[in-house]
Amino acid sequence: MTSNFYRRDTCRLCSGKDLMRVLPLSPSALCDAYITKEHLHETQELFPLELFMCRECGYVFLPYVVDPEVIYRDYIYVSTSSMGLADHFGKYAAHVHGRLKLAAGDLAVDIGSNDGTLLQAFKKLGMQVLGVEPAREIAKSATDRGVLTLPEFFDTPLAVKMAREHGKASLITINNLFANIDDLQEVTRGVSELLAPEGVLVIESSYLADMIQNMVFDFAYHEHLSYFSLKPLVSFFRRFGLEVFDVERVGTKGGSMRYYVRKAGGKREVSSAVAELLGYEERLGLYGEELYLKFRERIDDCKKELIELLQRLKSEGKSIAAYGGSATSTTLIYHFGLAPFLEYIVDDNPAKQHTYSPGYHIPVLPSAELYNRKPDCTVVLAWRYCEPIIAKHKAYLDGGGRFLVPIPRMRIIDSAAAGSGSAN
Ligand SMILES: [Zn+2]
Repeated sequence: MTSNFYRRDTCRLCSGKDLMRVLPLSPSALCDAYITKEHLHETQELFPLELFMCRECGYVFLPYVVDPEVIYRDYIYVSTSSMGLADHFGKYAAHVHGRLKLAAGDLAVDIGSNDGTLLQAFKKLGMQVLGVEPAREIAKSATDRGVLTLPEFFDTPLAVKMAREHGKASLITINNLFANIDDLQEVTRGVSELLAPEGVLVIESSYLADMIQNMVFDFAYHEHLSYFSLKPLVSFFRRFGLEVFDVERVGTKGGSMRYYVRKAGGKREVSSAVAELLGYEERLGLYGEELYLKFRERIDDCKKELIELLQRLKSEGKSIAAYGGSATSTTLIYHFGLAPFLEYIVDDNPAKQHTYSPGYHIPVLPSAELYNRKPDCTVVLAWRYCEPIIAKHKAYLDGGGRFLVPIPRMRIIDSAAAGSGSAN
């Protein structure tokens, strides 16, 4: 089989060569590559999954880059299909629009605009909008719905063409996609080209410090090439004549950060939040080795505790299912070695039901199967959402079922525990 990935040997941000391995996870199949029955006979390729830190600038990243054509051209993820995201983008647009005092008729560009949900919100606020989205079908549906969307990968030639045809942008947004881009230098050159003199680039992305503090290591998967924090971004943008002038914490995706970037020497004031966050990162030890050693120990402890419990349950003849068929579940299944224990996975998303998990091909079924098949125990792979899952399936617990929540520490939730509120 031809390999669809390559390994970078330099830092994506500063091109430094002094890299330190900080989080070795088990190799896994592409985390969102759930397959249909017709593809069951196919073996899915495994890719290494290890995070490195650049000792020169502090950037944490995945050096293994799977061909984006393989990952994105048939991407089925559409933002309106994800509950809460449309609402989040509506608030995002209103906040950023007010915060930056954007004017009617100013151009907003969203890179990785998906189905245009965010741009719709900026359009309602009177802005001109333009999307860039390489998934062709999704780009076309956004254009059909009134948000002109270019079906391309963003780079400098495209930026030059966009500026010529549509004018310079007062606002460029790149949300979670920024962490999925391999050639960040090229994209940032393009941004610099497209941005108006007083224009602002806003990036929202999962925040490395929160990922560690909240034990969200399963957020590491092949689509996520970067695990951003402030310090390396400050020096990175400086090299392109850009400057981070404000940062804001955002509660989505287990802890995200919003970075505001302007042209260096621009009129917008630099917020004290920038220096405060840099101080926090230093105090936390985000750029040293020790924090990561402790992080790995905590992950290993969770793994050991869960596996011992599953071995015991299995030896007692108990039936074991899992809850949550998302990308993060795949990292968890591979890194913890859960596949031999799980008979099936249940998921509430109809697009995932009746598919098979990446690599191991564990069947994914509707959550109603908790009541038909009555598994003795269900491992909550979607552990970050365990509270709503427990609340929704109290009847499963009342019928004798148990939820095993493995992270951030092992908890066994039965009917009594859920009823007494100790699930919190
Ligand atoms: Zn670096």
